[in-house]
Amino acid sequence: MERPLSEGLFAEAQKHIPGGVSSPVRAFKAVGGTPPFLVRGEGAYVWDADGNRYLDYVLSWGPLILGHAHPEVVRRIQEVAAQGFTFGAPHPLEVELAKAVKRAYPALELVRFVSSGTEATMSALRLARGYTGRPYIVKFRGNYHGHADGLLVEAGSGALTLGVPSSAGVPREYARLTLVLEYNDPEALRALLKERGEEIAAIIFEPVVGNAGVLIPTEEFLEALHQAREYGILLIADEVMTGFRLAFGGATERLGLKPDLVTLGKILGGGLPAAAYGGRREVMEKVAPLGPVYQAGTLSGNPLAMAAGLATLEILEKNPDYYARLEEVGAKLEAGLKAILSRKGIPHAVNRVGSMLTVFFTEGPVRTFAEAKRTDTELFRRFFHGLLDQGVYWPPSNFEAAFLSILHGEEEVAMTLEALAKAL
Ligand SMILES: *Cc1c(COP(=O)(O)O)cnc(C)c1O
Repeated sequence: MERPLSEGLFAEAQKHIPGGVSSPVRAFKAVGGTPPFLVRGEGAYVWDADGNRYLDYVLSWGPLILGHAHPEVVRRIQEVAAQGFTFGAPHPLEVELAKAVKRAYPALELVRFVSSGTEATMSALRLARGYTGRPYIVKFRGNYHGHADGLLVEAGSGALTLGVPSSAGVPREYARLTLVLEYNDPEALRALLKERGEEIAAIIFEPVVGNAGVLIPTEEFLEALHQAREYGILLIADEVMTGFRLAFGGATERLGLKPDLVTLGKILGGGLPAAAYGGRREVMEKVAPLGPVYQAGTLSGNPLAMAAGLATLEILEKNPDYYARLEEVGAKLEAGLKAILSRKGIPHAVNRVGSMLTVFFTEGPVRTFAEAKRTDTELFRRFFHGLLDQGVYWPPSNFEAAFLSILHGEEEVAMTLEALAKAL
């Protein structure tokens, strides 16, 4: 597959944009090579500037559960766009989208819209600190919650350490307020709660992890998380990726969670920039203008983003069978990948929940970030390019989830498995 135009564009882009990209993983650092410049999408497929077609498992990193350019979503965006794009004033579509979110997440009494997942988690943490008056937050290794300072923190060695920044520019004094634990380690969590429970404002977690590759929580871990509430700690389910994907009510519905706050994004905006955080009235009433916790945004609740999100949620709500289909196609893809890799004697662990899936190249099980990091990234690099050269666009890092849309069907699974068999 030739990509001369993408190569030229990438060279040009690097003269003007750091690394040639607006978000780091797009630069293909983990797998090498030139990222295709994608210029068109339809359903499960995308086309690059050179006219090559790819089956898309990235789906803009999760938002496009209905596939690219769903005609009804396009129509609704166009309809609203013709009336003006932004007013910086309340808009009826915000109310409609908030009501749709509450149908999916009945426990959210109030919802505030922002423009990115980063803003949603950052704001939810500020709110948790403002509400509890406590300084510390807890996060888990390999969980990603956007790029706000206090969240770009990883554990050092050991089960529990004070946070060490994982990015330059994050002051140590600030990272210190983030306590980091291993995911799926209920004992470490219970020990921390016993020791410092009264100082902790919130625990933020991915209910099914997508950002270390897919990691699936154990029952015991979820139980330990919920025990935190006995200490007056707010439990923040970061459902930016899983919201409306694992079920209409996300992981909260699928796993029966009882979070105090939920953050949403990705599918919520239907492919346009929208995100949100919400929770109990009593907590959310601390947000300005009702309360003392400040948070604002020039383009928050943008009518185009509200229209795309509302159209997407309404389509999902009207078609509950879509989730059964995503599960079914996901299971077929998982079984097919495992069969081929087993036949070739390649060590692997496929983690999947519904339409989110990761192939780790290591003997399983993979339950923690430490276990995920045992994957053979060189083998992944070859897996990735083997697929890409045959028109299958898999996420360009092993520590990411591949996504299905409702337009990924039997034909797409067959095409993927054929490509993999040939690549191997
Ligand atoms: C993508 C993601 C974010 C960040 O969202 P952005 O819109 O990229 O800022 C936060 N949390 C989770 C779980 C995500 O998957």
